[in-house]
Amino acid sequence: MRSIRENTTQTTCDCEDCTSYALTAHLRRSDDQAALHHQALAQDGWTDVEGRDYCPGCPTGQSVAGHDHTGAWVATEA
Ligand SMILES: [Zn+2]
Repeated sequence: MRSIRENTTQTTCDCEDCTSYALTAHLRRSDDQAALHHQALAQDGWTDVEGRDYCPGCPTGQSVAGHDHTGAWVATEA
């Protein structure tokens, strides 16, 4: 799930059993912040499936039983 706030953009893993998330802090809101955030996530191994986001520990090709839910959360500043 994605949430864009004034100073942060956060993505939470959409796998039901997973609490991984990624957070990017921004000095101020801009049109680019979500795009930069999602670029960083892709580099970290997150997967975007039709607008749902899965951390590196939740491969979309596997059933939930095969997930280790260990998508390291990342905090970056833009
Ligand atoms: Zn996950």
